[in-house]
Amino acid sequence: MNGPHRRAPVPAPQPALTALAATPVLGVNLANTTLLRLDQGGGLAPGNKHFKLSANLDRARQLGVSRLVSFGGAWSNHLHALAAVGAEQGFATVGIVRGDDGVAPTAMLADARRWGMHIVNVSRTQYRDRHDPAYLNRLRARFAPCLLIPEGGANPEGARGCMAIADLLKARPHTARHILLPVGTGTTLAGLVAGLGADYDITGVAALRGAADLEQRVGQALASLPGESRARWRILHDAHCGGFARVDAGLRAFMLAFEAVHGIALEPVYTGKMLYAIYRRLRSGEWRSDVPLLAIHTGGLQGRRGYGWLGG
Ligand SMILES: *Cc1c(COP(=O)(O)O)cnc(C)c1O
Repeated sequence: MNGPHRRAPVPAPQPALTALAATPVLGVNLANTTLLRLDQGGGLAPGNKHFKLSANLDRARQLGVSRLVSFGGAWSNHLHALAAVGAEQGFATVGIVRGDDGVAPTAMLADARRWGMHIVNVSRTQYRDRHDPAYLNRLRARFAPCLLIPEGGANPEGARGCMAIADLLKARPHTARHILLPVGTGTTLAGLVAGLGADYDITGVAALRGAADLEQRVGQALASLPGESRARWRILHDAHCGGFARVDAGLRAFMLAFEAVHGIALEPVYTGKMLYAIYRRLRSGEWRSDVPLLAIHTGGLQGRRGYGWLGG
């Protein structure tokens, strides 16, 4: 970055490993599970989105572009993180937000505005064009010079940035070879599969119902990543609890119990569903409770504020 946009570099996030205590949660002991706490990384908006954005920011710097434009809903972790890194690293940011047809102002949007993001509300119909080349060209012209980043940070740069999560993990002592993480677009999963390599088994827990093309998209992302060695991976499609951002009674009860026992905050869209999937498989005996698991807490805790029953 040149000129007035230059800022002191932000220290790299230093997430820890947290082994869960042996106190049971709703009758299940989760002591075989260790969390990689990306939620404890540094910065205004810690979590996996930070990693997905890092190589996109490098690309913007290479291009000499100081404005970043992307897409999301009114509670988007991705737009929240984009606004945060924009403020931290001196980029102007523009958020194209789904739903001028009646979206209430959210705490996410308030943060993003406070951090300087220019919010553009578009109708749900217009938002459907977010991958349409003609629409993207119009946006590019409107905000030139700028870099457009796809919704969720789901591009090859995003996946490459997530390989750094594997490096963080490898640098910390652990015995688990079975890694779990929540999955939206599959970009983070792809980065881990390439970054961890053949010694590991990775299970992604899909946050969306009926994401039938997810495996294909992960495969495409993997094809863009360096290295040869790949972890074995699979995606669980039965742990969405009714659909994206939906919460059923079981998930709600589990999350409240988990937070009370372990004192670690979750949110229902991603991390709550991942840990609930682990809980259910341990409870049913499908997974053995003596095999170590390493689950990635991908952050996103700003989204808790949308769920009053979690206490804000
Ligand atoms: C976006 C997000 C994910 C999913 O990441 P993908 O790379 O889209 O699969 C998981 N957890 C949290 C907290 C997120 O914000």
